[in-house]
Amino acid sequence: MKEKLKKVVEDNRLDASTDDIWNYIYDKEYIANKHVLKCFTVTMLIYTIVFILNLLNIFIIEERLMYIAYSSSMLIYLLVRHITKRVSLSNTKVKYFILTCTIMVFTISGIFLSYHAVILPLLSFLYATLYSSKRVMKIVYVQTVISTVFIVYGSYYFGLCDANMVLLTAATTSNYITDGVFNLTTINPNPAVNLMLFYVFPRCGIYIAFMSVCSSIFKIVSGSIEKAKLSEELEQAKVAAEKANSAKTEFINRMSHEIRTPINAIMGMNEMIIRESKDIQTQGYATDIKNSASALLGMVNEILDSAKIESGKMEIVPVEYHMGTLINDVYNMVNVKAVDKGIKLVFDIDSNIPSVYLGDDLRIRQVLLNLLTNAIKYSEEGVVTLTVSGNKDDDNNYQVIHFSVKDNGIGIKAEDIDRLFDKFERIDEKKYRNVEGTGLGLDIAHRLLALMGSKLEVESEYGVGSDFYFSLIQQIIDEEPLGDYKAKIFNVAEYNHSYSYTAPDVKVLIVDDNDINRKVFVNFIKKTKIDIHEASSGKECLDILGKQSFDLVFLDYMMPGMDGVETFEKIKEQRLCENTPVIMLTANAIKGAREEFIEMGFSDYLTKPILPDKLDKMILAHLSKDKIIEGANGKDDKDIVLKDVSRQKESQTSLKELDEFDFDLAIETLGSEELLLNILEEFAGSMDDLITKLNAFVQELDNPEKLSLYAIEVHALKGTSATVGALLLSKLARLVEVAAKEGNVSKVKLLHPILVEEMDKHKKRIIEELLDDSLEKTDGLENDEEDYYQLNGYLDMLISFLEDGQESMIDIVCGELSKLEYSGEMEVLVREVLDKVKVKDKEGVIITANKIRELTDK
Ligand code: ADP
Repeated sequence: MKEKLKKVVEDNRLDASTDDIWNYIYDKEYIANKHVLKCFTVTMLIYTIVFILNLLNIFIIEERLMYIAYSSSMLIYLLVRHITKRVSLSNTKVKYFILTCTIMVFTISGIFLSYHAVILPLLSFLYATLYSSKRVMKIVYVQTVISTVFIVYGSYYFGLCDANMVLLTAATTSNYITDGVFNLTTINPNPAVNLMLFYVFPRCGIYIAFMSVCSSIFKIVSGSIEKAKLSEELEQAKVAAEKANSAKTEFINRMSHEIRTPINAIMGMNEMIIRESKDIQTQGYATDIKNSASALLGMVNEILDSAKIESGKMEIVPVEYHMGTLINDVYNMVNVKAVDKGIKLVFDIDSNIPSVYLGDDLRIRQVLLNLLTNAIKYSEEGVVTLTVSGNKDDDNNYQVIHFSVKDNGIGIKAEDIDRLFDKFERIDEKKYRNVEGTGLGLDIAHRLLALMGSKLEVESEYGVGSDFYFSLIQQIIDEEPLGDYKAKIFNVAEYNHSYSYTAPDVKVLIVDDNDINRKVFVNFIKKTKIDIHEASSGKECLDILGKQSFDLVFLDYMMPGMDGVETFEKIKEQRLCENTPVIMLTANAIKGAREEFIEMGFSDYLTKPILPDKLDKMILAHLSKDKIIEGANGKDDKDIVLKDVSRQKESQTSLKELDEFDFDLAIETLGSEELLLNILEEFAGSMDDLITKLNAFVQELDNPEKLSLYAIEVHALKGTSATVGALLLSKLARLVEVAAKEGNVSKVKLLHPILVEEMDKHKKRIIEELLDDSLEKTDGLENDEEDYYQLNGYLDMLISFLEDGQESMIDIVCGELSKLEYSGEMEVLVREVLDKVKVKDKEGVIITANKIRELTDK
């Protein structure tokens, strides 16, 4: 058993049940029997010493009897040793066997060694103590009395009375030996009665009193030994249980990942059914699948988050975020649920709190979403209110922000409040079993807040409603008051912009790997007649700078290959911009970044997405005055629309409203609808290339270089999608970017298909809904593109299933692939893919799939 426990601890095997461990701990029989055998050995050792002393004639004992006594005791002992080697020491019968043998040895040695055998009752008593059993103790008391009678009478009949006995029964020692033999009758006519009265009773009394005293001592000693033993074993068991538990958590974690892959596949396939099916009923079924699958995915995500927090792998990633965006996103995500249930959602946001902070907005969003979803879930009607207010921290750079989510739903009983934040704990589970949930949400929220240095608190009255609230301390990045939170990311005041200058003699270089960013930049300043040159990489930048000089250089921070800082180092090395200010463009600048960039040698930095007003200010600040013609390009801007400070919710665009986009916001950023359309076209046009690139990188994410290239591309996508108003896509890209930067390859792999799908969806929406004209022109192509889109989708799935070894899914996708009809080279390639799948040539499939992609891109 011990071996088994040891093995469990060492191997961390999961097949040892807790029963095994507890059985072991309580297996006193085993422990006691082991100790008793040791005692028995010690007893026999003492017996042997006494025997040797007798041989040396130190005691007056008849030798023949002594041999018999000693050899029979030794025989019994050896028998016990032999038997106990073969039987399980945990067996109760063994206990009685050893006990009986000990009594026998005690009696025999008592008779023949007389009072020297006093050590033996003591040892057998120790034996009883070790068993800590009252029953055994009683047996030992009884056997002590019986054995004493035997010993006394045995000694008497064998003539082996000791000195004590003589003292009790005879007046003088000279009386006790007649002709060299013990003869008590000579001095005592009724020796049996005398023996009983003067010898047996007192001796039993002495033994029992002696044993009682020892009993207390042993109880104390053995009690603490037992306790120490138990606590040590408990500790061992705890370690084993914790190991087993963490292995189980790890297992759940792994399983959740495994579960997510097929769910994603189901959702992907199902999405295709929704898109392709013409049958309304089928679409209805597929929509049900979609809802259930996303609920399931939500739960799996909760389990993953919970496991991540538990294993200490959840990290808080502080980034710069706009409170308006955060609140607006949360509103959009929960409003549908509230409307569905007929619950009024009220957002009471203090417009005076600062607008931009440094913190982990993803996690704050997660907590708020959880609380708001719960409030809606556990209310039948009424109002759910999110209140956000704040006050300055003692340190003026920080703001204490108070969040509260109040509802007038079912409420929580006072006695249940303590259980709320426990994992898997659901209150009134039976009553609300049809309310979807895992019981993990509040636990996650609670722990995430703890990671952010906050605490989730709750006040609730059963049947009346609940209020969940917490306060967060966040570093302030921009003091500008939040105002109307619907004004979102950008402070619209920035857009009160007009071009009050031209600079036809000025040459500016913009270095950015992203075409759209460059286009936006160029459009912002083209009215100033500045001569704008573009470079799409650090290398190109160096080439251009080597050939010509500029008045101002804008250098993007994050670029594949040579990034902004590296490029700048080279510029300095090669003395390419001796007198030219270089301005860093960056998306993630935080407080103190300016000083850092200036220390590096940059003249300034500009945060992305670039706002026209800030760009103007920057240009004016860094150009020499003589190159600027003031007021030359006043207010003729049709492209750059002046915006009202308080943006109204009503639409400012004639563009068709699309769910995925916030065009009003995009126009605010870009300045004009025309430019937006222009950029949207470019954005849609760049999507396929970008998807191909990302798909290629994602195959090699284990290579850190590819992972960082992937992060850079997604980073750029985050910016451009925000520019065109595709906020959710931008958020998704951010999620993937963070995962890629964290080096969390598995997360990137999980999110990648969703990102790509969203990119494709956005592209199609733009093409189908907005760029009708161009669509008509390419009408002939449309079907092909649609087919190619499907084909590429299948290929992506196929590769991912091949990688996961999901045979059944591979069969399904191959079935679908073989249904597609192509001719010429495409037909050959698709067949090649199917053939390679048959022989499980994964690499071959990827190569051919890439060939297909190249062909479809043409
Ligand atoms: P679940 O996934 O079950 O919603 P949570 O951890 O989010 O898990 O919540 C735990 C339990 O707390 C819920 O099952 C519910 O009983 C209770 N609860 C949470 N929020 C509310 C609320 N706003 N009103 C009433 N009960 C709530």
